[in-house]
Amino acid sequence: MANVLEGRGHKVVQAEDQIKANLALQEERLDLIIISASLPEQADIDWISSLRQAGNPVQIVFVGQSSTSVASLKNKLIKDLGVSLLVVKPIIPFVFGAQIESQFASDDSGDSAQQAAKLKDFETMFLALVTKYAHVLPKKLSDLGKAIQNAKANPDDEQFSSEVRSQAHKIKGTGGSLGFRRVGDIMAYIEDMAMVMPQKHADEKQLAWADLESKLIDAQIAGDEEAEEVALVVSSKDSPQTSQHAPAMARILVVDEDSGFLDAVEELGRERLVEIVKAVTFRDALDKACIMPLDAALINVINETQEDSFKLARELRELPGYENLPLAFISSNALIKDRVEAAHAGASLYLDKPLRSDSLEKAVQHLVAIRQGGRPRVLICDDDEFFASTVALVLRNEGMIVKTMHKPDEILNVMQEFPPDMLLLDVMMPGVTGFEVCRMLRQVPRWQDLPIIFLTGQTGVDARLEAFRCGGDDYLPKPVVNEELLTRVKVRLDRSRLLKERSDKDTITGLLLRRAFSEQLAGMLAEANRLKTSFTLCLLDIDHFKKVNDTYGHLSGDRVLAGFGALLARRFRVDDLRGRWGGEEFVLAFRRESKQTMQGAVLRVLDEFSDMTFQADDGQEFHVTFSGGMASFPEDGESVYELLQTADARLYEAKKNGRKQVLIGSLKDSAATAT
Ligand code: GH3
Ligand code: MG
Ligand code: MG
Repeated sequence: MANVLEGRGHKVVQAEDQIKANLALQEERLDLIIISASLPEQADIDWISSLRQAGNPVQIVFVGQSSTSVASLKNKLIKDLGVSLLVVKPIIPFVFGAQIESQFASDDSGDSAQQAAKLKDFETMFLALVTKYAHVLPKKLSDLGKAIQNAKANPDDEQFSSEVRSQAHKIKGTGGSLGFRRVGDIMAYIEDMAMVMPQKHADEKQLAWADLESKLIDAQIAGDEEAEEVALVVSSKDSPQTSQHAPAMARILVVDEDSGFLDAVEELGRERLVEIVKAVTFRDALDKACIMPLDAALINVINETQEDSFKLARELRELPGYENLPLAFISSNALIKDRVEAAHAGASLYLDKPLRSDSLEKAVQHLVAIRQGGRPRVLICDDDEFFASTVALVLRNEGMIVKTMHKPDEILNVMQEFPPDMLLLDVMMPGVTGFEVCRMLRQVPRWQDLPIIFLTGQTGVDARLEAFRCGGDDYLPKPVVNEELLTRVKVRLDRSRLLKERSDKDTITGLLLRRAFSEQLAGMLAEANRLKTSFTLCLLDIDHFKKVNDTYGHLSGDRVLAGFGALLARRFRVDDLRGRWGGEEFVLAFRRESKQTMQGAVLRVLDEFSDMTFQADDGQEFHVTFSGGMASFPEDGESVYELLQTADARLYEAKKNGRKQVLIGSLKDSAATAT
């Protein structure tokens, strides 16, 4: 227990007996006392009584030896002695840590209360999962019983013993991880025995299978007991008002003159666990953005001050740390001109007024989702849905975006649509092993650097070696210990993020390099195909850049590239892609937008860029322009290659036509427009 709590940053004083405990009480300021009950429990109860009689109000957590004893003491401990929490041994480390921290939630001091609330929320979900598993466990055990019977009846057919092995293996992994430790231990035994069964002599086999049958009965009893313990932990925490402390998932700034509207949004935010920061004036909005970190902003565009709204958006994005702030605008007259302006200022969404509550809700979700783009994405592939959900829960609780999947043969498609930053891979799966999946992935250039961690109950040396041989990065035994899982996942993610940042981004412009851009573009194409939406690709090339280098020096040329990169990064929406295609060529991709809309936004950037003043080493000032060509999916092409070809042809035409312009069609067609 001390390990768990110290690992979570708490200071723990240990006392072996009540005399030492009394001493500790005099010497230290304690926030909480955890009493691990000794038998008989009466001595502990007497000690608590003496504390209370002496008027000591300290919070007490009682850890009982068994569910029956705790159940019989529940009333006395909670009602008479003011014990705040009852827990039964064996403790589940992560839940225990969260349970203890939930006791601090009442002290309402900002961050720590939020942290505790977050954990409490997690704990509730974790316990829900455990409870659900407790319901299906008997069925899983009886299925295993049938498998053992079959194996016993067909002693020479290895298929049956291997079925026993695989079922026991799964229960061991999931049950063990969810706190069914004794069941997990028995399953480990059954799995091992089933593995060596084929080598046994015929008459030994019958005995061995009979032994496993009796072990299974032990497991069923242990399962019932452990399920009861879990139920008790759940019922001892009958505090239904958890949502009061529920953590805010995100903080959104809402700017509107109308305080009634602001209150309505605030109310909605409360329901959706989103903290709404209200601002009535633009000044106020900027001030608030400086004080508290925001995840997104929602700005009402008022006709008379429309320009100012867009200006506010741009100013927000100029603040340090807010280059990627997702934005949405609300307006009552959404003209195409406004949409162009909004896209240019970086609005991911444009909402029409009057606002329906469901569209506001969708907007909030959308903004939060965009912000999550910065969070690590983890894919879990495990045929056991329970196990995958457990691991997912632990990782989601840490703010990661997690997807679970259960059919390994679909992995390439899943990864195309949900490109992960890390893969957690089960080894024993139907049809194909995790090792084979890993080997296959390592042959796909895109996934060569993906961190892959195996999660498996196979802990032999051979399996461990195979995990590294096939290209895995790490190895975590099932049942997993949540702290270990988190630590390993986080450390790997941090390292690989650093490396990826280095290899994906161009140092001069800060934009994606061609390879990384292409990978993400492939994802955008897949998404557009799936959702039947469009997207627009745009190639940009700086005009007469060779002359810039020749006249003002190569270093000035570099400054132009850096300035252009920074401008592109601040403009457009957070979920749009920006890359350096090579040399002085840039590439952009806009989700869900047509080239007609985006052309206007890019032309606005062209204006801004032309107005930027650059300085040569000798102090000479100069200006630069660019040209561009755009192509939309699906009207201009259905593959990335086709789209690039078309955009490039239009760029070439823009150059020939005098530069400083962006084309969305051939000049031969009258529809095409330019500056
Ligand atoms: P156009 O308007 O037709 O595009 O003419 P241009 O001179 O811009 O095009 P061209 O492709 O002939 O020249 C591109 C120049 O960009 C040549 C190359 O030296 C320069 N360049 C490429 N990468 C960099 C870089 O990283 N830094 C600097 N300073 N110059 C670069
Ligand atoms: Mg050029
Ligand atoms: Mg060029």
